[in-house]
Amino acid sequence: MEAFNIEKEIRDLGSFPDEKYLNIIREVGFVCDRCGKCCTSEFNDHIFLLDDDAQRIIEDTGREYLRPAPYFDLCDNLGRFYVMGYALKTKPNGDCIFYTGSSCEHYEIRPRICKIYPYMLHREPDEDGNIDFRQIGGLDEHGSYHNEIDEETCTEILKTVKEYEFGFLRQQLKFNEYIEKYFKENNLRISQQMYDRMMRLHKKGKAIEVYVFYKGRFEKEVITPAQIS
Ligand code: SF4
Repeated sequence: MEAFNIEKEIRDLGSFPDEKYLNIIREVGFVCDRCGKCCTSEFNDHIFLLDDDAQRIIEDTGREYLRPAPYFDLCDNLGRFYVMGYALKTKPNGDCIFYTGSSCEHYEIRPRICKIYPYMLHREPDEDGNIDFRQIGGLDEHGSYHNEIDEETCTEILKTVKEYEFGFLRQQLKFNEYIEKYFKENNLRISQQMYDRMMRLHKKGKAIEVYVFYKGRFEKEVITPAQIS
């Protein structure tokens, strides 16, 4: 997404009325019953990490649970991939690496996305083309809904959701800006053709280089198909 659009999304998010979103939170009335469904592949494809999530996890458990976030953003003409952040690894069955089958093994340091689930915001245009936000995420399929949530908790949820959404958009914006600068300085260009070719080779077993944007710079990871989960 272009920087201009991301900046607009940040502005739109900032001007979205708190009261409107608080009403969604009150109406949904979600309470986590620790069923763990949202930690499985049935509910989530991967757990994206904001920089501060990744840092917390690295400090506590090291880097062994991190992987470049799947669906790399782009590839350069030399066949190297770029992605805007890390994700948690998954188990062979697709469940989160921290999920024990009944609970989160590292609940205290769980990523922000896990804290806000299922209150993440989905941005989409309304009938007049204006970006609107609505709550998504496994509605009525896990946890307990339509509970009375006290105002303090509603406000806390709103604050956490906004922190996450702003954090995500800002990370995306910084990544885009850095890519532009990095490609210019290194005389690189974006190549969709190379992206497809390298992905085909990767599926056949070739290791690929992925540059992960973390804390304002790239960290190089070399991954084989076996390491992808
Ligand atoms: S980090 Fe913990 S809470 Fe988040 S998906 Fe994984 S197991 Fe679930």
